[in-house]
Parts: sequence; structure tokens; C-alpha cells
Amino acid sequence: MSSYWSQRAQKAQPYVPGEQPRERTFIKLNTNENPYPPSPRVLEAMEGVAANLRLYPDPVSLELREAAARRYGLESSQVFPGNGSDEVLGFAFGAFFDPQKEAVLFPDITYSFYPVYCQLWDIPYKTIALEEDFTIQPGPYLERSGGIVISNPNAPTGILLPLDELKQIAQAALESQRVFIVDEAYMAFSQSPSALSLIRDFPNVLVVKTLSKEYSLAGLRSGLALGSRELIEGLERIKDSFNSYPMDRLAQALSIAALEDIPYYEGITQKIIATRERCAARLKTLGFSVLPSGANFLFASPPQGCPLRGGDFYAALRERGILVRHFEKNRINDFLRITIGTDDEMDEFLRAAEEVARSK
Ligand code: PMP
Repeated sequence: MSSYWSQRAQKAQPYVPGEQPRERTFIKLNTNENPYPPSPRVLEAMEGVAANLRLYPDPVSLELREAAARRYGLESSQVFPGNGSDEVLGFAFGAFFDPQKEAVLFPDITYSFYPVYCQLWDIPYKTIALEEDFTIQPGPYLERSGGIVISNPNAPTGILLPLDELKQIAQAALESQRVFIVDEAYMAFSQSPSALSLIRDFPNVLVVKTLSKEYSLAGLRSGLALGSRELIEGLERIKDSFNSYPMDRLAQALSIAALEDIPYYEGITQKIIATRERCAARLKTLGFSVLPSGANFLFASPPQGCPLRGGDFYAALRERGILVRHFEKNRINDFLRITIGTDDEMDEFLRAAEEVARSK
């Protein structure tokens, strides 16, 4: 603590991202990055940008909004781009949820940045326990609240909530004039219908997407919010009170190139899904308990008889050069979150996992 810090800085409980190792080369399966390179069109677009870097970028990212609108069948006025979906989410909490009002609802086990934003913006929140099988049931989210946030598929479980259940929540939120944020960071890997189809009938639904996973651009920092014009304007009010140019020229140009190469990304997404299914089957054969995943990761706990549990299993994999993610959190501390890498990387992982599971 420093006496120079504002009360806000003192009270903040910052998010701790997954490790980005510097000291050795791991097979890195810990932060849900895409194992394949971005589209060749992204690399081409990069060359055109350098000469113009002396100029400020377009503050409203109009061309990027238009590209995203074409990609998702919307109007450009229904698109808000940001510096990673973390920033988009951070703005959304500030734009749509209030201090001293009813609590915002989200699951007890979900993306751990949500409570961090609430803390920063002084927003009261209430967590709703996932069911025994780690699914989300809509019931508790139909109650009056200050708003709702659901990651779909959920993270770190990977479990998908079907569209008709999201629609029930959207309807209840609409009736009480609350915003419902659906964080679709991993939706592309689920092959299920997106909540984007709700936007037309539900001006209170904001769908958040990231280019970090599906588009293999985690290093670029690019994310999108998609929703009614009034929600997008709310986000613009917060953004323009913070930073006029969160999307630099490179981020705008490369995001457009990515959004325009649908066939390339469909190809790598299918590969990741096939690898995920193969790994899930193999882990189950080894005795792991594996939750059904609609994401680019698996959430799994070691076989019953295995003496190494959760954090110890994570450490044993780490010693073997394989980095996965472990959360020291009630209910999930026996689980590992394993990002889907290439087939070769996953073979190495499976070999190491089998060796650790069999060690006494
Ligand atoms: N939402 C969820 C559920 C996530 O897991 C992540 C990645 N950590 C994000 C949002 C943020 O993604 P980014 O800021 O890279 O767009």
C-alpha cells in the first residue's frame, strides 16, 4: 500500500493472468491461445500499416466496425471494438451497472475478471453457485437484479448453455430493464448458435467476442461488443472518457484482415475441435473426469486412485515442460484447464499426463 494511492487503487483486487513464461520453452497449454498462426492475410495487412504509424488511428474504428458488421450480419452502429475483450468488458461494467443498486449476477465459477471489474467500479454483485455437475441453470438469473453476466461457453468449465435458456434470461432481464452480457470468448469452438440472434429482439443483450482465440490474435489485443445502438453508445461514452484511441492502426487493420478470412479460420477451428475430442476421449480412457467442452480447452480432474491431485498434478506436468492452468479455488481445485494445442503438442501432453497419473 502507498499513501499516494487513491482509495480506488487501494481497494482494487487486480486480476492475475495465466503465466507467460520467459525462462524456458514449455508446451504452453495454459492461456487458451490458438496453436495455429493467424491468417496469411493478417500478415500481409501488417506491411501496409507501418508507413502510416505517425498518424493517429481512426478513433471510432469505422472500417473495423464495418468488417465486423459484415462478418456477423449486423449494422456497423451495432459494433463496438476494443483493446481486447477484457477492455470491452471493463467498459461494459462501467456503462451498464450501477453502485448502490441491486447486485449484478454471475456464476460462482466463471471468468475471474468479472468480480475485479465490480470491485473497481463499486458495483455490488452476487454469485450464483453452478449446479453439482457444473452446469448453469437459468432459474436464479430470472430474479430481479442489477444485470447479468454469463460466459458462454463458461470458463473455465467449457460447458455450454443452450440458446433457448439464454433467451429466457434475456426476456426476464428485458422486463426489468437490465443489461445481460453474454461473453462469447469461446463460442466458435462450440458449433452452437450464438446469442447474436437475440440482438434484434433484445436491446438489452450485449454479446462480447474476442479475436484472441478463434482468430489467433491474442498478442494483438482486439475484442468486440455487439448489441443495440443504445448499448453501443453507452460503451462509447465510457471509452471516450478514458482513451480516444484504444485500437491502434495495427489492431484495426489486422482485425479487419482476420474477420475477412472466414475459410481459413473455419479450417483451424475444425482442427482444434477434432483435437479436443480426441484428447477428451483419451483422458477419459486414462480415468480422468472430463467436463463436456464447447471451448478450445478441456477441464479435467485426475483419475480417482491417483495420489497427485490438482495443484500437485499441475506441478508434475510443469516439471515435464508442460504448462496448463490450475485454479486454487473451492470446488475446482482438483481440476486442470488444458488449452488445446496442435496434435503433436497434445500427444506430448497426453504422454506426460499418463506418466504422472501412473506415478506413485
Ligand atoms: N472472456 C473470457 C471468458 C476469457 O477467458 C478471456 C481470456 N482470458 C477473455 C474474456 C479476454 O480475452 P481478451 O482480452 O484476450 O480478448
